[in-house]
Amino acid sequence: MTSESQPGLSFSIVQDSEPPAWAAQVLDCLGADGRLQQGEPGFRARPGQLQLSLAVARCVAEGGVLVAEAGTGVGKTYGYLVPALLSGQRTLIATATRNLQDQLSTRDLPRLLALLGVNRRVAPLKGRASYLCTHRLASARREGHYLGQTELRQLAQVERWAHSTRSGDLAELPELDETSPLLPLITSTRDNCLGSRCAGWQGCHVNEARRRALVADVVVINHHLFFADLQLREAGVAELLPSVQTVIFDEAHRLNDIGVQFLGRQFSTRQLRGLATELVNEGMRWARGFQPWPELASLLEQQARALDQCLGRETPRAGVRLRWLDASPEGVAAPRWQQLQLQLAALLARVSEALLAVAETAPELRRLADRVGVLQQSWSGFMRPPAGMVVRWLELGRQARCMEAPLSIAAALAPLLAPETQAPARSWVFTSATLGLDESLSWFTEPAGLKGLATVLRVASPFDYPRQACLHVPEGLPDAQDPEHASALAQWLVEPVRCLRGRTLVLATSLRALSELAHQLQHLMAGTGIDVLVQGQGSRRRLLERFREGGGAGHPCVLLASGAFWEGVDVPGDALQMLVIDKLPFPVPDDPLVQARSQALRQQGQSPFERYVLPETAMALKQGAGRLIRSESDRGVLVVADERLLQRSYGQVLLGALPEMPAVNGQAALMQVLKALREPG
Ligand code: SF4
Repeated sequence: MTSESQPGLSFSIVQDSEPPAWAAQVLDCLGADGRLQQGEPGFRARPGQLQLSLAVARCVAEGGVLVAEAGTGVGKTYGYLVPALLSGQRTLIATATRNLQDQLSTRDLPRLLALLGVNRRVAPLKGRASYLCTHRLASARREGHYLGQTELRQLAQVERWAHSTRSGDLAELPELDETSPLLPLITSTRDNCLGSRCAGWQGCHVNEARRRALVADVVVINHHLFFADLQLREAGVAELLPSVQTVIFDEAHRLNDIGVQFLGRQFSTRQLRGLATELVNEGMRWARGFQPWPELASLLEQQARALDQCLGRETPRAGVRLRWLDASPEGVAAPRWQQLQLQLAALLARVSEALLAVAETAPELRRLADRVGVLQQSWSGFMRPPAGMVVRWLELGRQARCMEAPLSIAAALAPLLAPETQAPARSWVFTSATLGLDESLSWFTEPAGLKGLATVLRVASPFDYPRQACLHVPEGLPDAQDPEHASALAQWLVEPVRCLRGRTLVLATSLRALSELAHQLQHLMAGTGIDVLVQGQGSRRRLLERFREGGGAGHPCVLLASGAFWEGVDVPGDALQMLVIDKLPFPVPDDPLVQARSQALRQQGQSPFERYVLPETAMALKQGAGRLIRSESDRGVLVVADERLLQRSYGQVLLGALPEMPAVNGQAALMQVLKALREPG
C-alpha cells in the first residue's frame, strides 16, 4: 500500500516504499478495500482514522508516549483498538465512563476480534461496587425487614439473577437504577469485605473478575480504578501493570480531574455512619455483651452529626466546599474544629480498643478493627497541616467529607512513564476528542506532566461543520449572572422548541440553573404536547433512550441536563437538532481546587485567568458543543445563551475552541433555520 492509494493521508509515518510491518497491518485492516471495509457493513476507510491508527501502531511497536486528539467522527475507537490487537501485546485500556467501558468489552472488542480473525482474551475489570457481593446479599435478605416495597421487589429480582450470572456485574441488570438504595446493601466496600475469611470467597465475583483480568490479553478498566489502585493496591491493577506492554487511556480529557480525586486523602461522615451500623450488627452478632456496641455506635452517629453541622447553622441544600488553608476549614471556628478533631480521635481509639479485644472471635470483627485503623490513620492525617503541593477542603452537603488532593496527576504518572522504570509498560497512548486548544495540546499535557515527553497528534473531525451546523447567540437576555437569566431563557426557548417539536438538549452550567429552567419550562410547555425531561427524573440511560425516541415515532421532547451530560452523550440523527448552552461554563470561582490552581499560577507570576480559567472554559464549551453533530448527515444549531461570547474580548478565544460554523443573527433568521431543519428538502 502506498500513499497514492490513500488519498488525504500523510505518509510522514510511512516514508519508505516498503512500510514497516506494523503500518502494513494497519493499512491492510483500515485502508481502502481493507479487511474492515470488506467485513463490516457501512465501514469506510477514513484518512483521519488511518493517521491515528498508524501513530498508535508506531507507538505500540517502538514504545514511548503518544497524546492524540481525534475529533468527533474520526473513528477513534477502532483507530487504537486495531493496532493494539494486531500487536499481540498485553494491553490495558482505561476509559473515564462505565458506559464506554461496557461498550468496549461487550461490543467493540468482540466485534473487532471476529473481523480481524484474531484470538485474544478480553476481560473487563471494574471497582468492587460494580459486582454483586453474595455475602452481603444474604445479609440484606436476613435484615430485609428494614427495606421498602420497591427495594424488596428489586432484591427478589437480584436473587433470581444471582443464580444465573457468571460475572456478577450489576450492569447486567439495567432495571436496577444506579441510584437505588439497594446497591450499597448488595455490594462490598474495601472496608466491609471479609476477604479470604469470607465463606463466599471461592465463588466471589470480585475475585473472579480479578482472576480473569490477570490472565487476559486485553483488560478494560476505568480511570477511577487505575488511580484508586495506584493508592490502595487493592483492585488488581497494580498487579497487572508489570506484565502490560501497552496502556491506552481513552476519554483522556477526564484523566486529570478523576486522578486528583483518587490520589488524595479523604474522610467522610458516611464512613463513620457505615462503621456505626456494622459495629452494632457484627458486635451484637459475634460478641454480644462483651462491649457496649449500641453505645459506641450511637457515639459515632453523634460525632458524624456534629461534623455534618460544624458550620453551626444549616448547610445549604446544594452543598458547599469550604477552603481549608489553616488549622480549620473556612467558616468553622478553630476552637470548635479542634474540639471535634480531638473528640473524634478519642472515640475512634475507644472503638478500636473494643474491637481489638474481641477481634479473634470472628473474621467480621477483625475486619472491622482493621477498618477503624484505616480511619484513624486518615483522620490523624487531617489533624496535621497539609504538606506539599496539595489542596485541602471540607465538603458539606448530604455528608461531610474532608478532602485533600494533589493539584495535578503529573507526580503520580511520572514514575510510571520514566524510561528507567519502563519494565511495566513500554507504550502509553492518551486519546480523546478534546485535549487542548493549541498544537501541543498543553491543556492536557501540562497537568499530566507529558509536555515535551509525548509525541502529540491532532486529527481533525471529518464533519463539514460550516455546512452541518450554525451558531446562534440570543440577543437581549439578562446578563448571564443575573438571577433572572434562567427564567428569561426558559421563555426564550418556547418558540424554537415548539418549532422543532422538541429535539432540543439544554445543557445548564449549574444545578441551580437547571432546576430553575426545569421549573419554568415545564410550566410553559404544558399543553403543547412536548414533554420536558429533566436530569434526575430517571436514570441517565432511560432519559437518553426517551430523548432518542422523541426524534422518531416517540412523543416529542426536550431534555434539560447538567454535569455529566456535557460529555459522552451521543444522539446522532434528528432527535437532537438544537443544542442550547445556558452560560459560558467558567470554572466555579470558589471551588478550592480552582482557587489552589489559580494561586499556584499567581505565585509563578502567571495570569490564572489566561492560563487556567479561560482554557478550562474553552475546553468545557468545546466538549458540550461536541454533542450536536455526531454523524456526517446530522444538521443542527448551537445556541449559546450568553452574550459575553460576542461582547467580551476573551470571547474570541472561546469561539476559537468551537468548530468553524456560520453565525445566525436575529430571532427571525434562527426561526428560518429551525423550520428548514424540521422540514428538510
Ligand atoms: S469476599 Fe468480600 S466481596 Fe466477596 S463475597 Fe465475601 S464479602 Fe463479598
